[in-house]
Amino acid sequence: MEIFKFGGASILDKDSIKNVADIIQTNSGNRLLVVVSAKGKTTNKLEEALAHLRNNNLSQAKSKLDDIVDEHLQLGRDLGITSTAFIADIQNLRSEADLALQMQSQSNLELYDRIVSFGELLSTKVIYHYLISTESVGAEWLDIRSILKTDNNHTEAKVLWKETKVLLDKKLNLMNDDVVIITQGFIGSTLEGKNTTLGREGSDYSASILAYLLDLDKVTIWKDVPGILTADPRLFDNVNLIPKISYKEAIEMTYYGAKVIHPKTIKPLQNKGIQLIVRSFRNPTAVGTVIGPEEEGTLYPPIVVVEKDQSLIRFSTLDFSFIAEEHLSEIFDVFDRHRIKVNMMRNGAISFSVCVTNKSDKVHNIINDLESKYQISVDNDLELLTIRQPKTQLIEHLQSDKLVLFKEIVSDTVRMVTKPIEMIRRKSRED
Ligand code: ADP
Ligand code: ASP
Ligand code: MG
Repeated sequence: MEIFKFGGASILDKDSIKNVADIIQTNSGNRLLVVVSAKGKTTNKLEEALAHLRNNNLSQAKSKLDDIVDEHLQLGRDLGITSTAFIADIQNLRSEADLALQMQSQSNLELYDRIVSFGELLSTKVIYHYLISTESVGAEWLDIRSILKTDNNHTEAKVLWKETKVLLDKKLNLMNDDVVIITQGFIGSTLEGKNTTLGREGSDYSASILAYLLDLDKVTIWKDVPGILTADPRLFDNVNLIPKISYKEAIEMTYYGAKVIHPKTIKPLQNKGIQLIVRSFRNPTAVGTVIGPEEEGTLYPPIVVVEKDQSLIRFSTLDFSFIAEEHLSEIFDVFDRHRIKVNMMRNGAISFSVCVTNKSDKVHNIINDLESKYQISVDNDLELLTIRQPKTQLIEHLQSDKLVLFKEIVSDTVRMVTKPIEMIRRKSRED
């Protein structure tokens, strides 16, 4: 058996779905399990629908869902899917989402998981119906919620490995060997059957979970890039493909924020020595990058990771006392409560500074909770730059147009929180 995973960018429109179908057909000699994300930016749109709901605007939320449904129905028409079963499937999913909107007594996070799951359910229905309409491969649609069981930590659910293994084996035994199985990434469900999600961008992780449980040799993730590159090609021009990379290096890169693979993906694969292959759906004959065990003597080029939207929060005590363990524990408690990941930190005598990703008002929540106890200052619009295997010239080049607010050098990694000089100029002009 083989597992393929296709992300949102690979199924944007009619032509890209046909391309995905070609890749599936070419490789369907082996039993194939295909994990698919939501189309394009559908998950973001579903989050927007939820934002309307939070603002008590049910009709706006529903109209957002209507738009999403229409997009998928239109995509089906563009692909020439004419079966009534397709329309019925999409409408059933729509009813499921409507039901979620009406359900009383559910937490915001529960509702989030019920609504955002819609993206993957819709996209997989389109691909499944397209594949069967072409009659070139047999296909079955698998609702992964009936298999991938998690705890009830909604939006960041943890996998219940044993329960999932039992259900997966049972299901695969019942399924026909020569059909391609189309299923969803990112989503799962609790033992009671409530929808859960594994964290944004979590479809890579879903593919890895299934490969781990099935003891496969490899799992292939098809992306819009040739493989793992020395930096994000959206931010840098001179990037190179890294043909082979160790699990360890890949874990480090993704932990530091390289957005190419979800950070949780690699560990299960490393535990069983399963190769992760990152290939381009734009160039399906190219080999891409193989992530596998460490090979002695491998030297990697410098790898650059940029995290944008960073804020540096500086806490000092109100009574000028030193920052001690009790303060740190209090501060971290609040970070944990708001599920904020600390990207970098520094402990001084009378202050403690933390660099975090500032999304969805999270920094605001921290200030609210702690401003009565600490003097807090915040610097926004920063970047966190991480350079693995750094070279002096590269570091100098990268920081040339930036003010470095803090820098950390640990063996083969340099990390710095920076502010673009342009931003500083703009600010002083405004002042
Ligand atoms: P998916 O469609 O599978 O969700 P993503 O968009 O999450 O794919 O990941 C692919 C993107 O990752 C690329 O378009 C690229 O801009 C970005 N990326 C960031 N860092 C790297 C890197 N070091 N190598 C390759 N791609 C990278
Ligand atoms: N659709 C989900 C997201 O956008 C999961 C994924 O794409 O991996 O976060
Ligand atoms: Mg992704």
